[in-house]
Amino acid sequence: MEMDTNILKVIQRTHNVKSFRCEPKARVDFTAGQFMKVTLKVNQENQSKYFSISNSPTEKGYYEFTKKITESDFSKALDRLKAGDPLTLDLPKGSFTLKEEDKKAAFLSGGIGITPLRSMIQYAVDMNLKVNIVLLYGNHTEKDIVFREDLDALSDHSQNVRIIHTLDSPDIDRNRWRGRTGLINAQMIKEEVPDYQERKFFICGPPQMVLALNKTLKDDLEIQADRIKTEKFSGY
Ligand SMILES: Cc1cc2nc3c(=O)[nH]c(=O)nc-3n(C[C@H](O)[C@H](O)[C@H](O)COP(=O)(O)OP(=O)(O)OC[C@H]3O[C@@H](n4cnc5c(N)ncnc54)[C@H](O)[C@@H]3O)c2cc1C
Repeated sequence: MEMDTNILKVIQRTHNVKSFRCEPKARVDFTAGQFMKVTLKVNQENQSKYFSISNSPTEKGYYEFTKKITESDFSKALDRLKAGDPLTLDLPKGSFTLKEEDKKAAFLSGGIGITPLRSMIQYAVDMNLKVNIVLLYGNHTEKDIVFREDLDALSDHSQNVRIIHTLDSPDIDRNRWRGRTGLINAQMIKEEVPDYQERKFFICGPPQMVLALNKTLKDDLEIQADRIKTEKFSGY
């Protein structure tokens, strides 16, 4: 459903990632993990792009999306937005969603690809769902980790959520960094998710990452296609 909204709040998440909270004029239900179409004026013309909804349906009163700010005109227009500015949303869309019957899930993500997974984890914790979730989240450096505090608080709060961070920059100080290093690969999945054969996989991130991890799951770990769900952030 398309609706006009106003920006309620802009939140700087990392050095190049911002969340935009929009005030709904009507109540539209969505499922954690879904996305929406966002339309705004860019150089006097309307432009639209798709964004996962980064808040959970349990966090009521706003719809939030979280964008990596790039050099594009769309990004620059978003970056200038402040509380009170208008924006058009069209939601809900997509089937990248978690079901309680999944029982055991493994989330694989990189960078900005965390947005729908953050929504799903928050929802699962708030609703006390009987789903056990392991998240393997890759970034270049610590300062690139989006929603770090939220994610760590969720895993501290719930025995059903475990989060493993991995950093792939060659400059990581291994004496200080307590998480893993390197890209997510079959070996890392085997070590961190020993019961991987029992889990439903959710992969989200830039298309190249999603395709590579999908192939790893199928070829190296022999996961059946019907146990893998993907969301590609085409555009990166
Ligand atoms: C289902 C779905 C969900 C998504 N969810 C999210 C989400 O939650 N968060 C998110 O951030 N994205 C999400 N995306 C991707 C999003 O829709 C955009 O494609 C993405 O944000 C890139 O848009 P952009 O305007 O920054 O860059 P684009 O204009 O699409 O350009 C792509 C790249 O080119 C570069 N570029 C463009 N113009 C210039 C210029 N003039 N000079 C130099 N470089 C330039 C940009 O830096 C960018 O890296 C999602 C996509 C889909 C399909």
